Amino acid sequence: MAFRTRFAPSPTGPLHLGHAYSAILAHDMAQQHNGAFLLRIEDIDQSRARREWEEQIYDDLTWLGLSWENPVLHQADQLFRYRSVLSDLWRRGLLFPCNCSRRDIADALSAPQEISAAVGPDGPVYPGTCRHLTNLQFEAALPENRAIRLSIDEALEALEDQQEASFEECLFEGGGIVKTDADELKNSIGDIVLARKDMGTSYHLAVVLDDAEQGITDVVRGEDLFEATKIHALLQRLLGLPTPRYHHHRLIRDEDGKRLAKRDDARALNKFRKEGYTPDDIRDLIGLAV
Ligand code: GLU
Repeated sequence: MAFRTRFAPSPTGPLHLGHAYSAILAHDMAQQHNGAFLLRIEDIDQSRARREWEEQIYDDLTWLGLSWENPVLHQADQLFRYRSVLSDLWRRGLLFPCNCSRRDIADALSAPQEISAAVGPDGPVYPGTCRHLTNLQFEAALPENRAIRLSIDEALEALEDQQEASFEECLFEGGGIVKTDADELKNSIGDIVLARKDMGTSYHLAVVLDDAEQGITDVVRGEDLFEATKIHALLQRLLGLPTPRYHHHRLIRDEDGKRLAKRDDARALNKFRKEGYTPDDIRDLIGLAV
C-alpha cells in the first residue's frame, strides 16, 4: 500500500521546534517513499482551539517549505462519526459511564485497601469505581456523566473471542521493538476514557478513527506517545481497523533537557522567523538538514 502519513497538531498555541521536527520528518519520509503527507487539525477541545492558531499552523508549515494533500481533516467536523462508533461499542457491552472527578480517583486510589496506583498514559490507572454502571441507555450516558470509559476487561475478552490476543509490534525510531500484552494493558492502562462530556470523544478514539479515515499507513509521532500507541493498537483491533506502522521519534528538548511545550513561546517557530532564521536554519537546529 502506498505510504501515507500525517501531521496532526492541535490549534491551541504556536508550533515550536518540536512540532517542526515531527512535521518535517513525516513530510520527508513521505517524499522518500513517493507517498502522501496529510494534515489533520485536532480541534476536539473547542474550549482551547482557536482559528488564529490554525491559520498560524498553515503559515508556519508553508514557511518551512512543506505542502500537504487536501482536504485537511478537522476533528471538530467528525463528532457524528465518533458518536456512532461509541454507540456500537456501547451495544457490544464494552463501555460504561463514569462520573468520577480527578479528586474521586485520587481518593479511591489512596484508600488503604487499594494496592494498585500505577500511572498510565492518561494519569493514574482508573480504580474501577463506576464499572458497575451498565444499566443506563447510551443516549443518557454522557449527558448525565463526566465520561464514558472502555472496560479493559470486557475489551480483552472481546478480543479473545475475536482471537486477536496478540498485538502489533510498535516500531521505535532507531530500531527497538516493543510489544504489549493483556496483563500490561490491564495493569498499566486500565479503563481509558473514550468520550469526555465536554468533547463527546477523546484523543484516543478520535486519533484512531481519523488515522483510518485518512488511510494512514505510517504514523510519525514523538516518543512521548509510545505508551498511548498501545491503546491505539488495542482500539484498532476492537474496531476491526488496520494498525499503521508507528515511528516514534526523539523529542526536541530545551537546554535543561525538558521537552518543549506549547507555552514555550521562546521556541515558537514564528519567533525564529521574526529573528531572521531561515527554514534551513531550523532544519539545522533540529538535526534534519537536507
Ligand atoms: N495532536 C497530537 C499532538 O500534537 C497528535 C499526535 C499523534 O497522535 O500522533 O501531540
